[in-house]
Amino acid sequence: MNQNIAIIGAGISGLSVARNLVEGNNIILFDKSRGVGGRMSTRYSEAYEFDHGAQYFTAKDKRFKAFLSSKISEDVIKPWESRAFYKKDNKLIPDTGEFRYVSQPRMNSFAKKLSKDLNIRLNSKVSSIYRDLKKWVVETSDGKAYKNFDIVILALPNQQALSLMPPETSYFDEVQKTQMDPCFALMVGFKKKYDFGWDSLRLNNNINSWLAVNSSKPGRSDDLTTLVIHSEVEWSKKNKSSDKSWIQNQMASAASKTCGIDISRAHHKVIHRWMFASVSKSSSKGCFYDHSLNIATCGDWCNGGRVEGAYISGLMAANIIKEKF
Ligand SMILES: Cc1cc2nc3c(=O)[nH]c(=O)nc-3n(C[C@H](O)[C@H](O)[C@H](O)COP(=O)(O)OP(=O)(O)OC[C@H]3O[C@@H](n4cnc5c(N)ncnc54)[C@H](O)[C@@H]3O)c2cc1C
Repeated sequence: MNQNIAIIGAGISGLSVARNLVEGNNIILFDKSRGVGGRMSTRYSEAYEFDHGAQYFTAKDKRFKAFLSSKISEDVIKPWESRAFYKKDNKLIPDTGEFRYVSQPRMNSFAKKLSKDLNIRLNSKVSSIYRDLKKWVVETSDGKAYKNFDIVILALPNQQALSLMPPETSYFDEVQKTQMDPCFALMVGFKKKYDFGWDSLRLNNNINSWLAVNSSKPGRSDDLTTLVIHSEVEWSKKNKSSDKSWIQNQMASAASKTCGIDISRAHHKVIHRWMFASVSKSSSKGCFYDHSLNIATCGDWCNGGRVEGAYISGLMAANIIKEKF
């Protein structure tokens, strides 16, 4: 193939497309963050670590299952055999619908392994992309321009992809029809161990929708307690621009009632806002490719949302490109 390829975004979809194209091509990945993994990431805060985005993932698609059983997943992927419940009418009901996998010792370990030996520019926010004599130019917000790419791949949440995509891209309108919603993650650390009787809890509460004992996942320190609490979608949409300390207090107060302890007295608390967390209107295309501009777009929102969807979306984009060149 021998193509020069720029991939914007080093989350799971960007890493998937890169791994599946790396042989025989020259690839550069750009990511605005300090590390790889995107929403499947880990926040380090004082003595604590929190998987504040993706909590676990499923493996239903046979292509993803095959990938998980390959050498690359060895050591880093483990089942999370948790005490999982959901709450209905004030009763705890076992939440046994899905087999859950996590990456260990932290959620970003998987992305780190996937990124091994790839040419990745971190702390590089792409501010624009354009064509010059039929080749793509990628400009980063520090004023640098990277030239001469045959193909550009946007592996970003939908709105972030739209902000870079030329309006004449053949699938621009289809991307506009998709929707992603925000979510707040409250991370709480206690120096001592607590047993709430569950490791994860899905709620029908109008503030919080999910609580997980992060320290119960395999490979994490279990001499302390870390909790990750996610806000409910409609509440998050309504309050997405609200003051973060107000958000933190509201979520902590609701979680205190759920856990039976005063969360506001925890040793450590930190809040994070995900502007594009989950997919409420997905495309059914899997990924997009414009054959005349040679621009591809992939990500979880092209394929039903979630980690598994993101990986397959990247794989599908790679397969289209392999077929064409
Ligand atoms: C709170 C929360 C809970 C979740 N829970 C689960 C779960 O339990 N199970 C599950 O399967 N999934 C879950 N998900 C969804 C899962 O995390 C995603 O489906 C998956 O990680 C998406 O990967 P991606 O590569 O499509 O996008 P992302 O991970 O968003 O990757 C996009 C990358 O692009 C980078 N970027 C953005 N703009 C630019 C730019 N201009 N220039 C350079 N880089 C840029 C970002 O830094 C990021 O690294 C959750 C997500 C969140 C936020």
